[in-house]
Amino acid sequence: MVVERGGHTRRDILKAALGGAAGIALAAPVRNLAAAPAQTPEVAGTVRLADDLFVLRIPGQTNVVAHTGPDGVLLVDGVSAGASEALAQAVAGLPGGGSVQTIFNTHWHPEQTGSNEHFGKAGKTIIAHENTRLWLATDVTWPWSGRRFTRAPRIAQPNKTFYTTGTLPSDSIRYGHIPDAAHTDGDLYVYFPRQNVIAVGDVVSGQGWPVVDWTTGGWIGGIAGGIQRLSTLVNEETRIVPARGPVLGVADLKVQYAMYSTLYDRLTQLLNKGRGPTEAVAARPAKEFEAQMGDPDEFVRRAFESLWAYLSPDA
Ligand SMILES: [Zn+2]
Repeated sequence: MVVERGGHTRRDILKAALGGAAGIALAAPVRNLAAAPAQTPEVAGTVRLADDLFVLRIPGQTNVVAHTGPDGVLLVDGVSAGASEALAQAVAGLPGGGSVQTIFNTHWHPEQTGSNEHFGKAGKTIIAHENTRLWLATDVTWPWSGRRFTRAPRIAQPNKTFYTTGTLPSDSIRYGHIPDAAHTDGDLYVYFPRQNVIAVGDVVSGQGWPVVDWTTGGWIGGIAGGIQRLSTLVNEETRIVPARGPVLGVADLKVQYAMYSTLYDRLTQLLNKGRGPTEAVAARPAKEFEAQMGDPDEFVRRAFESLWAYLSPDA
């Protein structure tokens, strides 16, 4: 079953998105996706991207992007709730750092939104896509693991939401929805034009296989489509900050696009032959990527299930 969206079927849109860059992307050599560029050592601490832009790496937490300016500090993503104090210390140690005034949630997962309660109580602005607010306002259970996420108190929910794009007066920062549903249906990017840096949350993984959270909209076609979309927003010099792993470049996007579109094709073929998730895992569709990316079984199972969830949302 295919769902209508704006006069096109989802399959048409996907086909167009996947067709666009396949020629160049598929020719790109696969290299170690986890390899860090020399200027971004994979260690805890603060990585300086510009005089006023940093990546905060707090042990056990996902990346936080911090922008300093006359209007205070802006963060892209927080940390999990228990690490809020460590985050405050990292912000206090920034050159030119004041207090945090604004925080973006790239999506609803607790690794990104755990500090919301702290900032919400302090009256700060929490910006997210409207879908992220909706997921935070309800209970979510992952059927594959039984993990349950309890709704956030109102004070911890985003207090400034949007649907498509937006800008901030400070440094002309631009942000927008990534509507492909790569990781969730509320994914956003934040682009810093002067520093030519884009923060992309979990839409791009810099470290191992991503979680395919099909319960809240993510799917394998969206991973390929979202990476393709991001590659139209960047140039050769843009630095891309994912939620996990080192800072990436546009070449990494091309490699990832090639890999995920290959996996999408293979899983779709298995689906069309009537296979199920266990058979998809057994077929080893990610065989040539295993050495670099690690054991793919969990990812393949979730990615296959995500096709069912996406193509038959009423099932
Ligand atoms: Zn996530």
